[in-house]
Amino acid sequence: YAAKRSRSGIEAYRADMSRRLERRIDMASRLDQALRHGELQLHYQPQVRLDDGGIVGMEALLRWHDTELGWIRPDEFIPLAEERGMIDAVGDFVVGQACAQIRAWRGAGLLLPGRLALNISAMQLDADTFSERLITAVTRAGLSPTEFDLELTESGIMVDPVRSLAIMKLLKAAGFSLSVDDFGMGYSSLSHLKGFPFDKIKLDGSFVQGMLTDRSDYAIVMATVTMARNLGLQLVAEGVETADQAVALKSIGCELAQGFLYGRACPPEVFAARWLQSAPAAGH
Ligand code: C2E
Ligand code: MG
Ligand code: MG
Ligand code: MG
Repeated sequence: YAAKRSRSGIEAYRADMSRRLERRIDMASRLDQALRHGELQLHYQPQVRLDDGGIVGMEALLRWHDTELGWIRPDEFIPLAEERGMIDAVGDFVVGQACAQIRAWRGAGLLLPGRLALNISAMQLDADTFSERLITAVTRAGLSPTEFDLELTESGIMVDPVRSLAIMKLLKAAGFSLSVDDFGMGYSSLSHLKGFPFDKIKLDGSFVQGMLTDRSDYAIVMATVTMARNLGLQLVAEGVETADQAVALKSIGCELAQGFLYGRACPPEVFAARWLQSAPAAGH
């Protein structure tokens, strides 16, 4: 009986695996199409000051809506793009669209409150042409690297730390600012961080969400706030969802936040209406 049961278990498992594999293959070809047809789009989420909720910057978050599969999360399709050798194309698309958006906002007379943050995955950093392509795309669009912040994960830069450091120095010298994304989720975060030219730490939302109920999450948030201050780095608390979390963060000296409490990532028109102000008219 047990053997029979486990055999059918294995069969069910195999069927499930092959369904998943099919979904991934199907999704890969759809992603490829979406990319060709420009069907991916960037949404934008504000970064704010905790004391008055004023906007200080924004993060571009990639969205993919497939007519059959519906909304697909970047946590699902970015790894897929990496697996299928499409990540450089995805990255180029993101940079192109981000540049076009900044130009469009500016063209409409809107004032950008700070840098636009772009997410860069480990494998993007891996391509030899990465920094060159990025700098070329930005300058060809008539923009400056000083308008952008690049979010790298610790695990991403640790794939090849020596090489990452060289690339990061180059990007810094070009004018980009650099942030550690998902801080706290990697290994040996503290000791490794000091050798890299980061400007900002983004504390992973999981700690913020746990900080009022879990002592160790609270301790990690506290330690990160102190460490960022002592290292002279900016700190953004990610994933702030409730007013209580915001109050607690403020009380321990955290100044910047991002999260649903302030605003979800939204399409550019919605973002502009909610967060961007017109530049004062020139010549007066
Ligand atoms: P991330 O860079 O750490 O982005 C933060 C994620 O948390 C975003 O999910 C955002 O929508 C979500 N979030 C923001 N505030 C809250 C909150 O208050 N509560 C909760 N529960 N979640 C919140 P999203 O947009 O699904 O992106 C997931 C990840 O996908 C990003 O994590 C980033 O690593 C990656 N990603 C997104 N866009 C790109 C891109 O253009 N290129 C690359 N390489 N990766 C990207
Ligand atoms: Mg990010
Ligand atoms: Mg993050
Ligand atoms: Mg993340």
